[in-house]
Amino acid sequence: MNRLLCQWAGGLLLATLLLQPARAVDVRAIRLWAGPDSTRVVVDLSGTAQHSLLLLHNPERVVLDVSGAHLAKSAHGTPRGAGAVKSVRMSHSPSGNFRLVLDLARPIQAKSFLSTPNAHYGYRLVVDLGSANRADKPIKAKHAPSDARDLIIAVDAGHGGEDPGAIGKNGTREKDVVLAIARELALRINAETGMKAVLTRGGDYFVPLRDRMRRARAQQADLFVSIHADSIRDRSIDGSSVYILSQRGATDEASRWLAERENASDLIGGVSLDDKDDVLASVLLDLSQSASLNASQVAAERVLHQLAQAGEVRKPEVQQARFMVLKSPDIPSMLVETAYISNPLEEQRLRTPAHQAKLAAAIHQGVHDYFYANPPMGTRIAQLATANSSRPVLATATGAGGAGE
Ligand SMILES: [Zn+2]
Repeated sequence: MNRLLCQWAGGLLLATLLLQPARAVDVRAIRLWAGPDSTRVVVDLSGTAQHSLLLLHNPERVVLDVSGAHLAKSAHGTPRGAGAVKSVRMSHSPSGNFRLVLDLARPIQAKSFLSTPNAHYGYRLVVDLGSANRADKPIKAKHAPSDARDLIIAVDAGHGGEDPGAIGKNGTREKDVVLAIARELALRINAETGMKAVLTRGGDYFVPLRDRMRRARAQQADLFVSIHADSIRDRSIDGSSVYILSQRGATDEASRWLAERENASDLIGGVSLDDKDDVLASVLLDLSQSASLNASQVAAERVLHQLAQAGEVRKPEVQQARFMVLKSPDIPSMLVETAYISNPLEEQRLRTPAHQAKLAAAIHQGVHDYFYANPPMGTRIAQLATANSSRPVLATATGAGGAGE
C-alpha cells in the first residue's frame, strides 16, 4: 500500500530519510483525523521530500521536519487539535525547512511514512499517533443468562478518513454513505435479543484493513460484514453484490499465518498454532478456514437473497474475491457492495436515509435468517431458535405448557 517508508519513533530517536535530492516542495494542506485508538495527521506535498520525525517529552510533542518545503499560499489554515493532538503549530526554519509541531494530549507512539499519489491525493507524509497494542476488551453479553452468550457481529464501514472510497458524479463519498448504512445496521442488530453489533469504524477516520480484522477478533465476532458502495466505469451498471473470500485468497493467508505463527499470539478458533508442528498447524488452519468459508457462503447467500427482495442485484450468485478484509481464518466474513455509487440514480438513492435504512434492513434480515438457521452452540439465539421452531415438543419436564421463554 503506497508505503515507501515506515519508521517507528520510540523514545527520543529519530531518523532522517533520503528519498530524492532536496528541492523545493509545497506543503499544500494539513489534515487531521481522530479515531478512538489512533490519530492520523496528513501533510499533503507537491512532491517527495526528506523528512524526520522526533518524539519529545515534557511536554509531550511530535516534531515533523520536511526539508526544503514551504507552506503554499493556497494551503488552508492549521487544523484544530483532536484525539491525541492538543494543538498543531507550523513554522519555517531559516534553512528552508518546514516544521510541524503536534502538541500531544498524552504520551504516545508515533510513526511516519511517505505515501505516493493515488486517485485522490498526491504525495503525502502521514504521521500516525497511537498507543501500541491496546488490547480491546471483549464485550460481555448483556441480556444473556450466564449459560448463553450473545452473538457478536462486526459491522465494518469501508474506507474512512483520508480514504474516501469511490466518489459519485455528484460528489457523494463512499466512506460517508457506508458509515450511515453500517450505523443503521448496527442499530437494528442491537435491537435484537441475543445479538450485539460492533462497529470497526465509528466515525470518519482511517482504520487499516488488518486492524479491522483484529478488532473483530478481539471482540470474538461470530460474523464480519463489510459495507461498501463501489464504482465502475460504465455508469449504467447498478445493483448490489455480495462477496466472500476466494480459495486463492484463503491459501495466501494460510501461508502467512503459518510463516508468522511463532511470533503471533493470535488464536485460530481458540487454538494456538505456535506450539504445533508444521503439519498439525496447517491441518488445523485448513479446517478452520474451510469451516469459515462454508459459513461465509451460506450467510452471504441469505444476505444476497434479502438484497434481491429489496431491489436490484447485479449478479444472482455470491461472488468470490481476494479481499484482504475477508481473510480472518476463523470468522465467517462477507463484503456487501450495497450499490454502485457511479450510477447516478443509485448515487442519489444512497444519500437518502430511507434507502440507507432499506439496505441495512435487508442485510440485517439476511444475518438474522442465517443465524436462526445455523445458531452457534451456547448462544442465546440457539435457545431462541429452538423455542421458535415448530417441531413438536416430545417431552418436557415442566409439562405446564410454558413455551420456553
Ligand atoms: Zn469500497
